[in-house]
Amino acid sequence: MEKREELYRGKAKTVYRTDDPDLFIMHFRDDTSAFDGKKVAQLPRKGMVNNTFNAFIMGKLAEAGIPCHFVKRLDERDSLVRRLDMLPIECVVRNVAAGSICRRLGVQEGMDLVPPTFELFLKNDALGDPMINDSHVASFGWATPEQVARARELTFQVNDILKKLFADAGMILVDYKLEFGTFNGELMLGDEFSPDGCRIWDAQTRQKMDKDRFRQDLGDVIETYEEVGRRLGMSFG
Ligand code: UDP
Repeated sequence: MEKREELYRGKAKTVYRTDDPDLFIMHFRDDTSAFDGKKVAQLPRKGMVNNTFNAFIMGKLAEAGIPCHFVKRLDERDSLVRRLDMLPIECVVRNVAAGSICRRLGVQEGMDLVPPTFELFLKNDALGDPMINDSHVASFGWATPEQVARARELTFQVNDILKKLFADAGMILVDYKLEFGTFNGELMLGDEFSPDGCRIWDAQTRQKMDKDRFRQDLGDVIETYEEVGRRLGMSFG
């Protein structure tokens, strides 16, 4: 698979065209950012760790029947993915209250959310990724009602699969963000799943094992991502 020109440079990944118009290469860089790009840093090994992490999780999800853009990991920092037309929305499921829901609703961090909540956000850094609902999505044409319903269904299916995976390895999947797109009309999971886009706590100590370590200057960011991966059965180079 030949890597061609750069198509899109995000905050932590770069997407390249390939010689196949249906396939892109997703390159994971060491850049990290938080607070809509206001806090940035370079964390050595992060690209390698997140590429490995994402490949492992996407593999588990695909095995469980979730349609994913992920095709295969190519090398340390690159993965091959299907070219999706992305929906400009983020789907967030929360099993435990943390982050923005605590600020918005004044609830205590750590409160169990039963049933888990489902939230939609507009993918727009300049606006601070505002929270939106199905009605906004329909009025502004960001997705069809059927696509939103399917994205919600898939997001909850992912929750059933991953909550158990993390629980079996002694961790709590607190919350996570997914992005979807279409490939030949079919809605598929796109983007990535790594500790950059979810919250993971140790089940015993409730120690934070995700990007909150970077957001809150807790240290050992990448070492902790690797610890999460090792507990799930990954090995890093
Ligand atoms: N998230 C993300 N990208 C975003 C916004 C949120 O990956 O642009 C993830 C975040 O890491 C967390 C979940 O989505 O796992 C919920 O984030 P929240 O709404 O609590 O926002 P935050 O506290 O991260 O600002």
